[in-house]
Amino acid sequence: MSKREFQTEVSQLLQLIIHSLYSHPEIFLRELISNSSDALDKLRHLTLVDEAYKGMPFEPRIDLELDEANHTLSIADTGIGMNEEDLITNLGTIARSGTKNFLAQLSGDARKDSNLIGQFGVGFYSAFMVADPIEVVSRKAGEEMAWRWVSDGQSGFEIEPAERAVAGTTVLLHLNEEGKQYANSWRLREVVKKYSNHIAFPIFLTYDKSEWNEAEKKSEKVRTTEQVNAASALWRRPKNELTDEDYKELYKSISGDSQDPLFWFHTRAEGSLEYTTLFFIPSKAPLDLYQAEYKVGVKLYVKRVFIMDDAKELLPQYLRFVRGIIDSEDLPLNVSREILQQNKVLTSIRTASVKKILSELKNAAAAEPEKYLEFIKEFNRPLKEGLYQDFANRETLLDLVRFKSTRVDGMTSLADVKSRMKEGQKSLYYITGGTESLLRTSPLLEIYKKKGIEVLILDDDIDEIVFSGVDKYGELELKSVNKASTSEDLKDDAEPEQAEALKPLLEKLNAILGENVKDVRASVRLADSPSCIVSDEEEPSLQMQQMLRAMGQKDFPAPKPTLEINPDHAIVKKLLGRPNDALAEDAAWMLFDQALLMEGVPLKDPAAFVQRLNRVLSVSIEAK
Ligand code: ADP
Repeated sequence: MSKREFQTEVSQLLQLIIHSLYSHPEIFLRELISNSSDALDKLRHLTLVDEAYKGMPFEPRIDLELDEANHTLSIADTGIGMNEEDLITNLGTIARSGTKNFLAQLSGDARKDSNLIGQFGVGFYSAFMVADPIEVVSRKAGEEMAWRWVSDGQSGFEIEPAERAVAGTTVLLHLNEEGKQYANSWRLREVVKKYSNHIAFPIFLTYDKSEWNEAEKKSEKVRTTEQVNAASALWRRPKNELTDEDYKELYKSISGDSQDPLFWFHTRAEGSLEYTTLFFIPSKAPLDLYQAEYKVGVKLYVKRVFIMDDAKELLPQYLRFVRGIIDSEDLPLNVSREILQQNKVLTSIRTASVKKILSELKNAAAAEPEKYLEFIKEFNRPLKEGLYQDFANRETLLDLVRFKSTRVDGMTSLADVKSRMKEGQKSLYYITGGTESLLRTSPLLEIYKKKGIEVLILDDDIDEIVFSGVDKYGELELKSVNKASTSEDLKDDAEPEQAEALKPLLEKLNAILGENVKDVRASVRLADSPSCIVSDEEEPSLQMQQMLRAMGQKDFPAPKPTLEINPDHAIVKKLLGRPNDALAEDAAWMLFDQALLMEGVPLKDPAAFVQRLNRVLSVSIEAK
């Protein structure tokens, strides 16, 4: 038997692992199973492509064997195996240069920093958290000789010839104090299910099962072997091998939803980065969709090994309703949350995933419009959040979002609105602030109705915030009809005499309303109503101001509204010829108050309004 020292880096790494991963010793099993799975993958590959290995018997499996009495657990595979040289280089030195450099950079306390350790795989050595000593017996595929490697994880290891019936590797753990909890079949099953359920190869557990012996009326131990993982990893299989039922079942098992998903998008990326993504769109919005502490629906796997299911950085917040799996070949198994936040691999996967989800939704909208509307019913609003969260994908999101409009009963797309534009129409228009019925009857829409121009009805409470930041759809400007300047481009040839004639009345109204308005102007946007309220470009609308105040921003300066009056309206025409009497003053106020009411803004002094109304009523009743 030959005794060898660990490379110094290995000893350092061991210390680092023990310090930083101690709170999750169970991951040792994940690491060993993943090594076995890699070894099986390697041998399978060789039996497919290498003449020397073709025809070699290959029965891939991973066996966990538990000996409760002796506190040992072994993990055996029928994979590629290792010869003497492999054992020395793989388990005695740190072959990967990245790890070496990483260790070289560390000093003092940094070595204990558990965030740093996530940058590389801990692998095999993590088993020393739970075992001492560890024996590895391995036989390389295609070779006759087997080798035993033994180490206490302190200073070095011993290596000697051994026997093994078939190629593969057995890692025998002599469980220590910390590891004793794993000498328990329930615990093992639980850990395998948690991390390794989707490893593609079957994992069997052999243990002493307690069974009731009816004849002897007592329970007895029976050596039993059971498969403990699902071995499915459906997402790693080619799409054409999977049925709709397969997808639906997987969706239900990972989401806990009992309904079928609406859509799913399955992608395998091969190239500089290798990964598989499978995303599902639920048919109903999750209950916590609008809660700050929503549950993440996408699980992260590395090489089919489950890593975490609560990483909010996997997808942007507005896509929090998406369920599914990201399985990467390029991340280390023990990647930590802190590392995820700035990991380049993950950033690339995330960017590509968002693009994929959005483009697939766009395809769905074209191919299955009715189903897409079901999606919109549940998820239009999070997509709108995307309009201000995800600038890079704004154009696609604008195509995905659906709107109410003055032209249609249901929902419509911007592309459709664009296709219905009138000749000479320069922009797309929308109205915000208030309920759908309030908006549909707003005097601000009159000119658009008259000219047959479609206006989008944005009645969602986030619409004003979202769309104040979206000013274009492709080349077309998106304009709010609530803004004073918007009607400018609708103006017919001006009628200068009429404007001149109206001047005295505008001055009179300005004088009466005084501090309550910014200005009183002639309107070009009104047809049937005598007056309306508009806001200036830079100012929040009246509804927005109300919202800000309701949210506690009490003392921001309230911008004054601008009142527009309709020069063609009978009331306005009659006022023009009237002397400055009490009735004219009441009428001025009532033009202002009714415009506020139509905007859904409560009046400051309802009593004064009612008094005026009654005065005007009694005059008009007398007149009859
Ligand atoms: P990693 O798996 O991240 O490379 P490990 O420390 O877990 O790091 O393993 C080091 C190397 O030992 C592996 O890359 C592999 O070559 C070899 N190895 C470990 N376990 C096995 C196994 N069960 N069968 C064959 N080779 C193995």
